[in-house]
Amino acid sequence: MGKHVTHWIGGRRHEGPAGRRGSIHNPASGEVSGTVDLAGPEEVDAAVAAAGAAFPAWRDTSLSRRVQILFRFRELLNAERDGLAAAVSAEHGKVFSDAQGEVARGLEVVDFACGIPHLLKGGFSENVSTGVDSYSILQPLGVVAGVTPFNFPAMVPMWMFPVAIACGNAFVLKPSEKDPSASLLIADLWARAGLPEGVFSVVQGDREAVDALLAHPGVAAVSFVGSTPVARHIYRTAAEHGKRVQALGGAKNHMVVLPDADLDLAADQAVSAGFGSAGERCMAISAVVAVDPVGDELVARVKERVSRLRVGPGDDERSEMGPLVTREHRDKVASYLESGVREGASLVADGRVHPVLGGGGDGFWLGPTILDHVGPEMSCYRDEIFGPVLSVLRVPDYDAAVQLVNDNPYGNGTAIFTNDGGAARRFQNEVEVGMVGINVPIPVPMAYYSFGGWKQSLFGDSHAHGTEGVHFYTRTKAVTARWTDPGSRPAGGVDLGFP
Ligand code: NAD
Repeated sequence: MGKHVTHWIGGRRHEGPAGRRGSIHNPASGEVSGTVDLAGPEEVDAAVAAAGAAFPAWRDTSLSRRVQILFRFRELLNAERDGLAAAVSAEHGKVFSDAQGEVARGLEVVDFACGIPHLLKGGFSENVSTGVDSYSILQPLGVVAGVTPFNFPAMVPMWMFPVAIACGNAFVLKPSEKDPSASLLIADLWARAGLPEGVFSVVQGDREAVDALLAHPGVAAVSFVGSTPVARHIYRTAAEHGKRVQALGGAKNHMVVLPDADLDLAADQAVSAGFGSAGERCMAISAVVAVDPVGDELVARVKERVSRLRVGPGDDERSEMGPLVTREHRDKVASYLESGVREGASLVADGRVHPVLGGGGDGFWLGPTILDHVGPEMSCYRDEIFGPVLSVLRVPDYDAAVQLVNDNPYGNGTAIFTNDGGAARRFQNEVEVGMVGINVPIPVPMAYYSFGGWKQSLFGDSHAHGTEGVHFYTRTKAVTARWTDPGSRPAGGVDLGFP
């Protein structure tokens, strides 16, 4: 008997019978470590009803009180961060230190949300007309839902709920069914922090639960993070049901290396950003664009570093890279090694033969892989692989590099490595990507900026967290007010003119 993960509805674990269940794996051993309930419309109804019931009182809870609860949640999260990171590592497979990093980045959004009184200040204009004032109020939407991917089971939900809840909404989370435990640990922290029952709920599940949330009349808005085909579906379906929606999708992140770059820095960063979390990051570098004549030297330095990477279980502190999340995903990623070679790429490092600490057993292993001389027409370039496969493309000059990045349908993150400030400045201006790094490979914005890509990496117009997050989770009301006193009373009489 392994662990059993269920829903969190109305401030407690949901103990009702489960119609369907899924398996949770330990990706390092391949073994089943537990089961997760998969919600249908009934559980979704119950969670939305509990959230709807909690919303009016939470909306009217003073900002000071909301902030007290947020600070308590922050302190508890900080105290429990290693436990949360261990749970993430055990189900996702990423190494413990990387999971700690994910929790730390989530905590930063909680820090940001603790400043909500300042963020919810509206505007005020005195005397827009004689004796008339105008002001704006930011109000919460009601019940809002978040649907999140497997790759950051703690951080990505934390891009959403700290801001949504701070703004006065009730939040229903539908985490990935592949690594669901973090969501319940977080729910427990909220309860201990004193958040009223129903303000934060969790429904475990898959497409069935998501579709029930998308169609539910009680849900006002949906935040989604995941792959592009699902993001598109969420965007269309939620919009069709009259909901506000932001849907962050997949990625193909390019790292452009100009000939004047510091090549050791570029090689270090390409390896870190390509293989951290086994490449299962939406901001992972998956395509290195080497501008002539830098290619051969850069590939040699990347290859040398890759050969030294220690691949092993997430809970072995020697490991730098863990397994992939599921067997199916590992097999799909591995298939790009074959198709890449078939389509003309050269296999410089073969992850299938990279050693695994402890032997690897029946875990979902694939070591770091480099495909060189990749062309834009090859499937290993066109598809988001989402695994430890770094493709290297060669281009003749800067213009060809930018053209390649801009022609790609994704636009999540990108980076340029150069010592030429003018080239870097031109790149930040010309590149059609939402998050840009200059000699920084994974340019994830801090919590007080907003996270989001362009093109097929984002459907909707609001990015996550930061002020765009506050904007997404609130509606603005503009009030025009006149309080008459003898001095400001308007001249009497009816006037049909447009005011
Ligand atoms: P996914 O799209 O398969 O699943 C994401 C969520 O949607 C999960 O909760 C899943 O249960 C649900 N879901 C899956 N199929 C569905 C369907 N047909 N209808 C409704 N809901 C469905 O993504 P994943 O494999 O969990 O995560 C990896 C993907 O997420 C990658 O494409 C990665 O680039 C992307 N991602 C993007 C960002 C970003 O900020 N843009 C961040 C993290 C991950």
